Amino acid sequence: MIIVMRAGASKEQVETVINKVHSFGLRTHPIYGVTKTVIGIVGDDKTRIVEKMQSMPGVEDIIPILQPYKFAGREAHPENTVIELGGVKIGGDSVVMMAGPCAVESEAQLLDTARYVKEKGASILRGGAYKPRTSPYSFQGLGEEALKYLAKARNETGLLVITEVTDPRNVELVCRYADILQVGARNMANFVLLTEVGKSGHPVMLKRGPSSTVKDLLLAAEYVIIEGNRDIILCERGITTFETYTRNTLDLSAVPVIKNLSHLPVIVDPAHATGRTSLVEPMALAAIAAGADGVMVEVHPDPDTALCDGPQALTFGEFDSLMTKVRSIASIVGRSI
Ligand code: PEP
Ligand code: MN
Repeated sequence: MIIVMRAGASKEQVETVINKVHSFGLRTHPIYGVTKTVIGIVGDDKTRIVEKMQSMPGVEDIIPILQPYKFAGREAHPENTVIELGGVKIGGDSVVMMAGPCAVESEAQLLDTARYVKEKGASILRGGAYKPRTSPYSFQGLGEEALKYLAKARNETGLLVITEVTDPRNVELVCRYADILQVGARNMANFVLLTEVGKSGHPVMLKRGPSSTVKDLLLAAEYVIIEGNRDIILCERGITTFETYTRNTLDLSAVPVIKNLSHLPVIVDPAHATGRTSLVEPMALAAIAAGADGVMVEVHPDPDTALCDGPQALTFGEFDSLMTKVRSIASIVGRSI
């Protein structure tokens, strides 16, 4: 349910209503809008008690939320969420480019890539420190050493850093180095991890699981939100279908679908979706045309020698050419970079 406070309701009236809800043993999620405050309530079983609050001073209306994702959905939060971080706005008028290697392999590999993508207009540096690999014998990432290189690259270039956290026990450690925590596709339904990243207060990018529906993704976001963390970015990165030519099938329609159902920013990852460098550019451009708030791509100084995901990485030159086209498509759909 949500309690809609009247425009101009005082801070005291809002606090009194919140305290009353808490006295019923329910949790609240206040959303402070420009004109009105809306108080979300978790735990619908006490609906009838909450309804009695209709006559409290400052209360305009009490409305049930029908969407299953109570706080990730637009019903409780009609305006777009814009995450502002170090001068970068995610979900605003600009399209955000996230770029960097699949895995951090060395200080030089990361710094060279960071400098290049920054120069060409990326605002967020990606790089895996903990790699979720299908085989336990594949390169697993450099761990904290990689996190240190990422922090160094941020300090030098001013890029924000996003990196994946795979284990709830590492959330605190990764938060020390990264600006945005990534929850990978394989962990989208790891509810312990979702709760931990929710508690961390760090912005989170949640990638859609390969076998998950849009509803599953939004419910996963709900796990993060109910811990009090609303800075969530959703990422479409392809789903499993019977098609084998591509690594996954990019569900581009998920972009307008999610934008319609949810207020959260949506990013598309055409690299993990297709697994092929040649498909990254066309799918990145299509994603922006479809309304994505940004794109994440993998860039490597020498994709042939990459320790992870070389076949889907862009060279520096390919990233440069992508950025030129991204600017054109973004301007056609009324967005900047
Ligand atoms: C990644 O972005 O590094 C990654 C492993 O992607 P995904 O979780 O989408 O497979
Ligand atoms: Mn990768």
